[in-house]
Amino acid sequence: MIRIALIVLAVFLPGLQAVAQDGAILLRPERVFDGERMHENWVVITRGEQIVYAGEADGADESGIERNIDLRGATLLPGLIEGHSHILLHPYNETNWNDQVLKESPAERVARAVNHARNSLMAGVTTMRDLGSEGAGYADVGIRDSINKGIIPGPRLLVAGKAIVATGSYGPKGFHEGVDVPLGAETADGYDELVRVVRSQIGQNVDFIKVYADYRWGPDGTAQPSFTQNELQTIVEVTRSSGRPVVVHAATAEGMKRAILAGVETIEHGDGATRETYKLMREHNVALCPTLAAGDAIAQYGGWRKGVDPEPPRIAAKRKSFREALDAGVKICFGGDVGVYPHGDNVRELEMMVEYGMDATDVLRSATSINADIFHIGHEVGRIRKGMLADLVAVTGDPAADISALRDIRVVLRNGEIVRQ
Ligand SMILES: [Zn+2]
Repeated sequence: MIRIALIVLAVFLPGLQAVAQDGAILLRPERVFDGERMHENWVVITRGEQIVYAGEADGADESGIERNIDLRGATLLPGLIEGHSHILLHPYNETNWNDQVLKESPAERVARAVNHARNSLMAGVTTMRDLGSEGAGYADVGIRDSINKGIIPGPRLLVAGKAIVATGSYGPKGFHEGVDVPLGAETADGYDELVRVVRSQIGQNVDFIKVYADYRWGPDGTAQPSFTQNELQTIVEVTRSSGRPVVVHAATAEGMKRAILAGVETIEHGDGATRETYKLMREHNVALCPTLAAGDAIAQYGGWRKGVDPEPPRIAAKRKSFREALDAGVKICFGGDVGVYPHGDNVRELEMMVEYGMDATDVLRSATSINADIFHIGHEVGRIRKGMLADLVAVTGDPAADISALRDIRVVLRNGEIVRQ
């Protein structure tokens, strides 16, 4: 009875994701970017949740095709993998971060996140790594599970939960000691407490642990390291033993160095990196999520008129630092800190990666196969290949020639289901 009711709901309620179609779908685009390189004259066939054929049109077995999708003039790519989102935040020029954390109810924040998840999927983002709920507890875990159950549409999510910060470092700040302020992350210090907090977050079934290796708590609000080398090592040791990775927010050379030596897998932001830092990242196979678009958005919220005023020093420094990361051969993750700017506008980061000097094909690799591999999901998504999940996006034009073509979406499939056409 319950089963029948669920089927009826799935058919009649808009927004609920139906199960993947069993019949085969043939997609015939102008070109296919398979996650690594571009191919002409390819077709892709999906059946159920999977890709069953990707290759030369001549070699395709077209028997049993139920649906033909003509994508003339379009490029077919693996669904995009956003590496740094905050589904529980919305742009700071709408509501500043402090007010989102302090004044918006958990219900409002989740309601917004439902919209954010849908907007991301419609923009061709079929997977997102979400970097902390920023005061919304484990709402990200619940949203991830709701998407997986088909209750709401959205990308598959990898979530951090609350994230971990050193006492005194994180915000909201500026209150006297008698005021009990709900923080944007969970505090823990020292061996015993870190072990307990990491384990309690793991117990809530987060996909990875996020830690802040530094924060703007230095004199005059400068970024300075927070956790000691030993503390970071403790976090990594305890997290790894549960089979999960640690990712780190770091914007100082010293914070980055401690985190790399402790064994984190990705560094978020990385603004203060030196050439030595990048060399160390390369040696330890740590990827950089540069979040170019977030800094750019925040500068504009602060009054910078992009394209009119000269580039603020922070932006010029970021451009230079990103260039140095490329030159040093650091693995670049696509992750823009979306949420600081509107969910669904993920392409902004990819455009800026090109603008700051990265080859467009390399940018496409970052957004697909490279992110999939960094996030340990390369066996099922990030490439167009037989046996992979059918997470696909088709866009008009050639994004390897003009990255902004990614904005002109024709079709999105997630798990073999057409979610936008
Ligand atoms: Zn972030």
